[in-house]
Amino acid sequence: MEIRSVRELELKGKRVFLRVDFNVPLDKRGEITDDMRIRAALPTINYLLEKDCSVILASHLGRPKGKVVEALKLAPVKKSLERFLGKSVMAAPDCVGPEVEKLAGQMKEGELLLLENLRFHLEEEKNDKGFSERLAKLADLYVNDAFGSAHRAHSSTVGITEFLPSGAGFLLEKEVTVLSKLLEKAERPFLLILGGAKVSDKIGVVKNLLNRVNTIILGGALAYTFIKAKNWDVGNSRVEYDKLDLVKAILEDARKRRIEFHTPLDHTIANKIAAKATYIITERGAIPSGWIGVDIGPKALEEYKGCIGRAKTIFWNGPMGVFEIEPFAKGTMEIARALASAAAYTVVGGGDSLAAVKKAEVIEKIDYLSTGGGASLEFLEGKTLPGIAALQEK
Ligand code: AMP
Repeated sequence: MEIRSVRELELKGKRVFLRVDFNVPLDKRGEITDDMRIRAALPTINYLLEKDCSVILASHLGRPKGKVVEALKLAPVKKSLERFLGKSVMAAPDCVGPEVEKLAGQMKEGELLLLENLRFHLEEEKNDKGFSERLAKLADLYVNDAFGSAHRAHSSTVGITEFLPSGAGFLLEKEVTVLSKLLEKAERPFLLILGGAKVSDKIGVVKNLLNRVNTIILGGALAYTFIKAKNWDVGNSRVEYDKLDLVKAILEDARKRRIEFHTPLDHTIANKIAAKATYIITERGAIPSGWIGVDIGPKALEEYKGCIGRAKTIFWNGPMGVFEIEPFAKGTMEIARALASAAAYTVVGGGDSLAAVKKAEVIEKIDYLSTGGGASLEFLEGKTLPGIAALQEK
């Protein structure tokens, strides 16, 4: 997939609008709890500074839905950025308008200006042409490094490319390279590990990867819809009944293709999803009524570790259980550790899986951590991401 790179742009001394993904998690006091997305944007920012550019940084944060929300202002991001870059970053009061245009117009080489949350304006998410033009007015060139937002056709990811010469930043490029490799030339055996809450969020990935993977292993709540489809008792575990037919068709397709398709051999089940729940281990098909599957069991874990040991390529998205509650986190943590010691090329995506990898202190041992949860899933579903297509057309 050919997209124009930031390296191909005439950068020297130019004013660049850099769309980044600074949609970081904040705690109740407004402190950033994970700055991975900020760190991931640094190579492109530093590259632009080396080329004597003045850099206008733009991002969304949270879901303010077109209104100014005090708690979603980008001030904490500015502080964190200044610490990483070792230089000051100017903060704009908004992302468009005369005052911002004036600030942008006065920028000198090597200066940085952080625009206020793009989603304080409803037009951003509507990919409004006028709004895109107002954003474009601030700069000479456009660079998109916000892979996490590439699946959205918004003004700052798509519309703006109509008005400025555009290119991809290093993070976006790297994400596209790694995920394309999974789709096009993954070394086999290729293992897909999926967990998390909903079948509907991940079914597209399973479908698109069915003719590419050798093995699929499932955990998390979504596994119970598959188990139910095989007519095993799931007690009160979470099942998406409207997806049963779809899941049956996928199981049949996987069988025809001779894909190894594993659902957990055993489970940790609990009488409720809470820290103070009663919990026991039970075999597959033996979850009594009133009990909920909350984690994969020890036999499942052993089997899954075997699959991980045999694979040459692994993609993991989604926790194996309700990992936020300590006694139900074992499956997820062990999978993170098994990936870390695997010989395979390992790619992990999705906020919860990344959090597990972090908690298990094995970040350095995973080959690639994808910063874009939804965007990486859509990419692996085989969809054309609008933010990437916009950089191809130019
Ligand atoms: P996702 O965002 O789709 O990756 O889903 C992550 C969420 O799935 C986490 O908050 C987990 O607590 C939840 N989850 C994982 N396993 C289960 C389960 N067996 N039952 C209910 N929720 C689960």
